Amino acid sequence: MQTAQAPTDRGNEIASTVVATMVQMGVIGLPRNYEIFYEALTGSNPALSLEVIALGNRPTQEQLDEIGRKFFAQNHEQGIVEQAREIIARELEGVATLLRSERNYIERYGKVLDETSSGLNSRTVMSQELLQKIVGVMSVATASTIDHGKQVASTLGDKSAELETVKSKLEEYKKLADTDPLTHVWNRRAFDKRISKIYNDNRGVLFSALILADIDRFKEINDRHGHPAGDQILRIIADIFQSSVHQDIFVARTGGEEFALIVEGTTEEATFEIADRIRMLVAQTSLKDVQPGCGQVTISMGVCMAADADSADDLYAKADRALYRSKLIGRNRVTRYSTIAERQGKNWLLYKKD
Ligand code: GH3
Ligand code: MG
Ligand code: MG
Repeated sequence: MQTAQAPTDRGNEIASTVVATMVQMGVIGLPRNYEIFYEALTGSNPALSLEVIALGNRPTQEQLDEIGRKFFAQNHEQGIVEQAREIIARELEGVATLLRSERNYIERYGKVLDETSSGLNSRTVMSQELLQKIVGVMSVATASTIDHGKQVASTLGDKSAELETVKSKLEEYKKLADTDPLTHVWNRRAFDKRISKIYNDNRGVLFSALILADIDRFKEINDRHGHPAGDQILRIIADIFQSSVHQDIFVARTGGEEFALIVEGTTEEATFEIADRIRMLVAQTSLKDVQPGCGQVTISMGVCMAADADSADDLYAKADRALYRSKLIGRNRVTRYSTIAERQGKNWLLYKKD
């Protein structure tokens, strides 16, 4: 009982702090504002916390909206999807009404044809004048039906163009929800989706690899040159990643100063070379133009082949272990998971021998 209650108590405590902070700062009780302050106060998103702190004691709703758009892209997308759903529903209702009216029109035309043909089938003698009248009625009805059909076709064309616009807007927003707003590479959400696909088929497992990269001593850079300079450096590093690899390689920012690359159709040797080339490019890039007094930054990397892991989570954990090893043995280097595993294997054999 005790353990079951603990998280709730903690949750209530956080909720009261969130509310008290918002009241103190004069923030209105919009759900999105609760969400922002909740994340900021639990510290689960350090970048968001920093931005909230930077707003000072009296943040405006515009500033909070800006943070909401930046950090809750998925929810933003939800709103857009909802909006699009409404537009599509409205358009489809319009098309249905149009088709119903078209059916009524055609039914009326059918009735004219029926009446005319039954008139012609009756054996009453008809004057040439009457026949001419019948032909006249039929040709007017036919022309008007054709005309109406053309109108329906053109309206349907307009409606389908509107639906196409909605579709491309949705695709645009879907991309937005998967993109990191700071660096414009893929974000964590997109990365999670992408990495989980590796284990869907054998080819993915045999020839895919994950590279994780983490900027070395980035906290010091922020502390010395300020957060905006840090942001600018993150953008530069993301650009180096993006521009120095083949476009099929998936580049994502998976966390604060952490990046990931998913490489397909590759071997361990080729993946190592890609990683090491990027590492060198980063180390050789001068940052003086961005921040006077800031020379270079370096990155540490870890590489793991999908075949050396059992699942997406396992792959991430193993590449992370390799990255951690790069940090441990001096930073600015690339470590392959397989070399750590091998070493551990040997240790194990040694242990057994003794
Ligand atoms: P290490 O070499 O061990 O990785 O050291 P580090 O200082 O890079 O690692 P640590 O995890 O201690 O610090 C990461 C820093 O990255 C802390 C945080 O201020 C910074 N950071 C995280 N996200 C952002 C961001 O979006 N912008 C900026 N400017 N800094 C960020
Ligand atoms: Mg880190
Ligand atoms: Mg770091």
